Amino acid sequence: MNLTTIILLLGSNLGDRLANLRQAIGLIENQLGVVLVKSKIYETQAWGKKDQADFLNQAIQLRLLTTANELLLKIQSIETRMGRTRSQPWEARTMDIDIIYFGNEIINTPNLIVPHARMAERKFVLAPLAEISPGFIHPQLLKSNAVLLEECKDNLEVKLFTG
Ligand code: ATP
Ligand code: CA
Ligand code: CA
Repeated sequence: MNLTTIILLLGSNLGDRLANLRQAIGLIENQLGVVLVKSKIYETQAWGKKDQADFLNQAIQLRLLTTANELLLKIQSIETRMGRTRSQPWEARTMDIDIIYFGNEIINTPNLIVPHARMAERKFVLAPLAEISPGFIHPQLLKSNAVLLEECKDNLEVKLFTG
């Protein structure tokens, strides 16, 4: 049983964004393991490719039996099942699921980089992380999620989503 802090960030900016988050969490619970904690839902302008709809983002913490590689395959199959297509980087999507932390593991392979490579540049990742695990220390940057959020220079506004 892997009891380390495994955190995923879910994002949606296409279709019924709230329903998409709920559906993804349901599929994760059925196919992967227990969702221990869910952050609130945050709304942010699109990062990287800005001429598209705002995203809803939510972080979840899991308890899992799988390896990080198996987790990546499963989340990719859930994205595909939810209608995710991939043609251009950072385009609109029904569901994006990124592995943010897999405990203290540092993974650098062609398919998988953990902790997520761009997380420290993104307030929409750090705001929900700082909510659910403010004291967790990034195993490479050696700073807590709360400090990473404080120091982050991203100027895209992250708002609590109230519906
Ligand atoms: P970004 O990674 O900047 O958030 P994105 O989520 O839009 O962009 P995708 O098209 O979803 O990017 O994924 C591109 C590739 O990133 C995937 O095929 C996957 O192999 C790889 N990848 C590397 N590290 C991770 C990670 N920590 N979580 C999810 N995918 C990852
Ligand atoms: Ca992403
Ligand atoms: Ca992704």
